Amino acid sequence: MSEPKRVDLAIVGGGMAGASLALMLAHYCPRLSVALLERQALPDAGASVQLPSFDTRATAVAAGSLQIFDELGLWPQLRGYAAPIEHIHVSDRGRALGAALTADEQERASFAGMLGAVIENAALGPVLHGALARTNVQMLAPAQVDAVQMSESGAQLAWRSDSDSGEHSLSTRLLVVADGVDSPLCRQLGIETERIDYRQRALVTTIGLERDHRNRAYERFTDDGPMALLPLPKRDGLHRMALVWTCAAGVAEELAALSEARFLQRLQRAFGWRAGRMVRAGALQSYPLSLSLAREQWRRNLVLVGNCAHFLHPVAGQGFNLTLRDCYGLAQALAGVDLASNSTRQLDLLQEYGRGRRLDQQLTIGFSDRIPPLFASANPLARGLRQAGLLGLMLAPPLRSGFVGQAAGFGL
Ligand SMILES: Cc1cc2nc3c(=O)[nH]c(=O)nc-3n(C[C@H](O)[C@H](O)[C@H](O)COP(=O)(O)OP(=O)(O)OC[C@H]3O[C@@H](n4cnc5c(N)ncnc54)[C@H](O)[C@@H]3O)c2cc1C
Repeated sequence: MSEPKRVDLAIVGGGMAGASLALMLAHYCPRLSVALLERQALPDAGASVQLPSFDTRATAVAAGSLQIFDELGLWPQLRGYAAPIEHIHVSDRGRALGAALTADEQERASFAGMLGAVIENAALGPVLHGALARTNVQMLAPAQVDAVQMSESGAQLAWRSDSDSGEHSLSTRLLVVADGVDSPLCRQLGIETERIDYRQRALVTTIGLERDHRNRAYERFTDDGPMALLPLPKRDGLHRMALVWTCAAGVAEELAALSEARFLQRLQRAFGWRAGRMVRAGALQSYPLSLSLAREQWRRNLVLVGNCAHFLHPVAGQGFNLTLRDCYGLAQALAGVDLASNSTRQLDLLQEYGRGRRLDQQLTIGFSDRIPPLFASANPLARGLRQAGLLGLMLAPPLRSGFVGQAAGFGL
């Protein structure tokens, strides 16, 4: 395929956000010409995708997101890599109080009897990029976008590739920036970001267990910080779960330096025995945590999606799910639209898209931002509040249903 010079819509970044949006545009807006520019090389179909999104993490994909993947025809391919979540057990370490949320009690918040499913990012990458290779989205990779110039009629991108020494350009009517957290392109466009540094890190690894997880996910709030243990498909005879352990940077460093046996001891002490004996721990990866929100998510001829628009605390497993709903909202807003015909109409559409996404974003960001610090605090007031919250979750149907709905990623 020859290199495009002009498209209706260009996406910068082929991570989880950019690749998902491109698939939705191919599905819901087949008349739009779309290009996706990714600075790293993409492999042949089926091979692992070496992009930051598709590393050794696992993603809790909420029921609402599974429904979207199903609409895109991807669920049959994803199913083989997915461990269902049928129960979520929320508890406060050291206190007897705990709350269990199940798929059966909330039909609205489930997909095929699940509250969600956990899929390793390394499996998600080849499925998303394999599906993209079968669409008419024009993939430019490696293609590093260095400069963007916005105009009345769209945007002009200057990009370069490792595979040749030349400078390339592409003009587009609508530009979608999906280049990740701390986006240099957003800075270049003068889009400011509000940032709260949680001064914590997420330690991520795969844990081997003696017994089956029975499709349960655990959210446990310890005095060090919140911890999530998520079911994974069994591999080589080993029962596996994905761990996200949030702790202060110093504690994370100390934990990362431990031997496997000592790490497992610490983890078992912090988590308890509800999931059984932990027998193996994989390599630890550590991620700095912040809440990072772009002050603007759209302008004339421009939209931001994914981590460059909002980067959330990962323990509630909401970041990608929220992004997927944003992308779905954008693809629905653009369905049937001729971007060439009228730029005033395009501005109205983006305004409608922004308005339509506001409440879900506010609730999801609030849920991810406020719950972990509340549970992490040893302050008696916070402790009282979270125990009242857990008690409410155990007893009050509307609260349970709101929590399950939010956890299952149906948004609003
Ligand atoms: C520890 C952890 C656990 C998480 N767990 C969950 C979970 O369970 N559930 C959930 O919903 N969410 C989860 N998330 C959130 C999820 O990982 C993010 O939503 C997701 O990574 C969003 O990716 P992105 O595509 O926006 O950004 P990125 O993955 O950073 O992708 C950006 C892409 O843009 C490319 N790029 C950058 N600059 C340029 C340029 N100038 N030109 C061309 N290409 C460029 C990069 O190479 C990269 O491929 C978790 C996050 C963390 C940190």
